[in-house]
Amino acid sequence: MRKITVIGTGYVGLVSGTCFADVGNEVTCCDIDHSKIDLLNQGQIPIYEPGLQEVVDRNVSKQRLSFTTDIPSAIQEAEVIYIAVGTPMTDTGEADLTYVEAVAKTIGENLNNYKVIVNKSTVPVGTGKLVQDIVQKHLPDANLDFDVVSNPEFLREGSALDDCMNMDRAIIGATSEKAAQIIAELHKPFNTRILITNVESAEMIKYASNAFLATKISFINDIANICERVGADVTKVAEGMGLDSRIGHKFLQAGIGFGGSCFPKDTQALVHIASDVNYDFKIVKSVIETNNEQRMRVVEKLHHVLGDVRGKTIAVLGLAFKPNTDDVRYAPALDVIPELIRKGAVVKAYDPIALNNAKTELKDYRNIVYSTDLYETLRDSDACLVLTDWADVVEMDLEKVQQLLRLPIIIDGRNCFDLDEMKRLGFIYHSIGRPSVEGYVPVAQNVP
Ligand code: NAD
Repeated sequence: MRKITVIGTGYVGLVSGTCFADVGNEVTCCDIDHSKIDLLNQGQIPIYEPGLQEVVDRNVSKQRLSFTTDIPSAIQEAEVIYIAVGTPMTDTGEADLTYVEAVAKTIGENLNNYKVIVNKSTVPVGTGKLVQDIVQKHLPDANLDFDVVSNPEFLREGSALDDCMNMDRAIIGATSEKAAQIIAELHKPFNTRILITNVESAEMIKYASNAFLATKISFINDIANICERVGADVTKVAEGMGLDSRIGHKFLQAGIGFGGSCFPKDTQALVHIASDVNYDFKIVKSVIETNNEQRMRVVEKLHHVLGDVRGKTIAVLGLAFKPNTDDVRYAPALDVIPELIRKGAVVKAYDPIALNNAKTELKDYRNIVYSTDLYETLRDSDACLVLTDWADVVEMDLEKVQQLLRLPIIIDGRNCFDLDEMKRLGFIYHSIGRPSVEGYVPVAQNVP
């Protein structure tokens, strides 16, 4: 059992702090955002993450998990300090280290005895050394001892608890054997594979992993776009490719492209990391370009079917970047909706969870009607765009949808529906990398 302080109580800090508490450690999660900590101290969870409330409650009641804005005290009481603040993308695409640097300074100023400082945030190679230098510079006593470790996080929003409790691996980058063993020990209860390496390699593993997964997505999306032109079906192509155990089925679902708080920023950051050492990372640049174009393909398809969208009402289903999260950071909807508005459409936007976050991001746009009612969103719309494969969207009653839409047009950025079913129901249905369904005129109507 260790005393752990987690600085930054967002998606990563809250979930990983809770998991460390659940396996018996005494964890304090802290944040500069008072409203977040107040909510947590009132027993509420500031983010949507399935199952999290119950595990937080359990650990709070066992007094293994607490929340505070008193970061100096939390630092002084800890044996291990996790940094889990955001590293968002700057305007030029690099990782913004402002928050990491601020935390490193606070840790330095408040260090009172030996501690292991662990970087869980996704940070460019060299940040471990940067944190080391900042902490050292601000120590009240230059002789105080500490180690900096890199232990990147791999959880996915929507399944974060499970990803954390049953992690595939723990990557530990350290310069000191003692610090590496303390962090390895912390991971024993998770029964996971542990790779100990140097700090730089650990930092690179995180970026290389995310860029590789993003590459798989852009690759299959490029294949999908070619499939459309040659009459192949990308879902079958991906299925066939995935049967090769060297390739596997994961991350081969063609669609509207990747979004979220990680892949877009981490691919950009990796291009910058490479360029800083005079390396032109062409593959990842293309991955980003394909992805940016891919999100607009649903708008192009809509145009193809509907013509000018000016004055038309478009139902947009799904604002979160993927199902089971309220996170809209770099979500396709944030590019698609403004484009529809610019073209003169009225947008009816549906999401079961992410509506408030989307409203904040899209506050500058008028002509958007928000709803958490799926069928009301569809009612009297001229066409429907599927951007997030929420379960209730995938399982919606298509016959009812037919009746509610003014025109039976569905442009599906997530390949949710069966082509034969859509043909049978008479939809004009365009998805990604699959043959389009051009509607069906019932035989009876053709009889003079
Ligand atoms: P987030 O924005 O949800 O949370 C970051 C938190 O840090 C916020 O609550 C913010 O108020 C707090 N913070 C900022 N400055 C602070 C300071 N000086 N002191 C204390 N708290 C401070 O971010 P996140 O999604 O949890 O991501 C955190 C890091 O983990 C990022 O580097 C991200 O790339 C990485 N990561 C994220 C995910 C994910 O799915 N979200 C997965 C793996 C890795």
